[in-house]
Amino acid sequence: MAQCKLSNCREEAVQGGKRYCAHHMAEYKRKQREYLEVQKTLPNCICCGEKLTKTAHDGGQTTCSDCIAKKEVLDRQLKRQARIEAAFAEKMQALDDAGSVDDLKSWIKRYMTSNT
Ligand SMILES: [Zn+2]
Ligand SMILES: [Zn+2]
Repeated sequence: MAQCKLSNCREEAVQGGKRYCAHHMAEYKRKQREYLEVQKTLPNCICCGEKLTKTAHDGGQTTCSDCIAKKEVLDRQLKRQARIEAAFAEKMQALDDAGSVDDLKSWIKRYMTSNT
């Protein structure tokens, strides 16, 4: 007979008990039941409807990690887009504000000779 797979346990493993002894098999089943009970209480992701993990739910999240990752990518793209638009608006505003040839020269120096 095989021994219980827990290293600190010397009991014999029960048949069909995933190599646990009777005592640890009962404990394993209890934990599994508790796990399933917790699963039932977990809400679904508000984005895709998948079950949230307990860690995500305990952390106060309402979306699953997949949706969070997707959202981060989207946020980064939107921020980059916003930065580009803001830089362009600033450039056009500076051109509007240029009232003299010197202003125009410095505008050209500032915006046409740099890579930004
Ligand atoms: Zn055991
Ligand atoms: Zn999701």
